[in-house]
Amino acid sequence: MTVDIDWKNLGFSYMNLPYRWRAYYKDGEWYKQGLETDNQLHISEGSPALHYGQQAFEGMKAYRTKEGKVQLFRPDQNAKRFQVSAERMMMPKVPVEDFVHAVKEAVKANIDYVPPYESGATLYIRPLLIGVGDNIGVHPATEYIFTVFVMPVGPYFKGGLAPQHFVTSEYDRAAPMGTGGVKVGGNYASSLQPGASAHDEDYADVIYLDPKTHTKIEEIGSSNFYGIERGTHKFVTPKSPSILPSITKFSLLHLAEERLGLEVEQGDCYIDDLDRFEEAGAMGTAAIITPIGSITHKGHRHNFGTGQEVGEITEKLYHELLGIQFGDIEAPEGWIVPVEAD
Ligand SMILES: *Cc1c(COP(=O)(O)O)cnc(C)c1O
Repeated sequence: MTVDIDWKNLGFSYMNLPYRWRAYYKDGEWYKQGLETDNQLHISEGSPALHYGQQAFEGMKAYRTKEGKVQLFRPDQNAKRFQVSAERMMMPKVPVEDFVHAVKEAVKANIDYVPPYESGATLYIRPLLIGVGDNIGVHPATEYIFTVFVMPVGPYFKGGLAPQHFVTSEYDRAAPMGTGGVKVGGNYASSLQPGASAHDEDYADVIYLDPKTHTKIEEIGSSNFYGIERGTHKFVTPKSPSILPSITKFSLLHLAEERLGLEVEQGDCYIDDLDRFEEAGAMGTAAIITPIGSITHKGHRHNFGTGQEVGEITEKLYHELLGIQFGDIEAPEGWIVPVEAD
């Protein structure tokens, strides 16, 4: 089947595709799972996910190779992180194999919607776990729905490797020992307002500072931060329990060291010491690698280089990562998982 989609001009928006994978949990066990065609969920008005934010999600992509095959990038890592998020939210864990199976089935069922290799677009995958059922008291649900739906997307920040401009916020997305380290909706609910203010002022997104002292870069709306140190070319990325542990970040730490021969460091990135870095970027599944042209903090704008051009190391990292994800460059052992079409 061919589908009528303008692959080159895809944004990052919801699309109701033919199939999604669903699994249902009650009385301590998963009791039903399979593909469904209805994109609507019918749940109790008492569902804890609706009142108290008892939910967690993931974000990953399926890539089409030059040969037309479809593959996933480190899905086991998403599965494990989903378990950590579920545990923090007192939800049942989806076994790693079941998670990867669900993702593969959701992709396979909608395989015609995986964009062609040449387009540079991908199939975005959204696994979601919500606490449902008749409740009103503040306690964990007894019933859960796990769903995996997919849609073709372009890059989250438009313009490929064109540098984007960011602004710090006086708000926090998470508390020092809160839920910043897990992928849950509540972190995003509290980021909507700062995100909207940043967009109103024509910034691509918000840079959050560490919630305790507001002196160090923590992360960006939905991606982690890195800087390339002036002179040493060291790849530096912040470390904090309230940062969402990005799989793209851990992959780039590995690639920077093993493939580009760079020194790497997870450590403090002070907002008053941006001159330390000659390049900076945002990294995440949706953001891929987005060069940071400038950061505005308390009304002062700091440009990286001219603020208009992508740096040499950022460009190398981008090509290495995308080359692996799209199957053009050999991947480290276990990073690529094929989705076999029936
Ligand atoms: C998902 C997410 C990221 C990126 O993580 P990846 O695993 O690289 O996609 C970064 N920050 C936040 C807040 C996120 O929710």
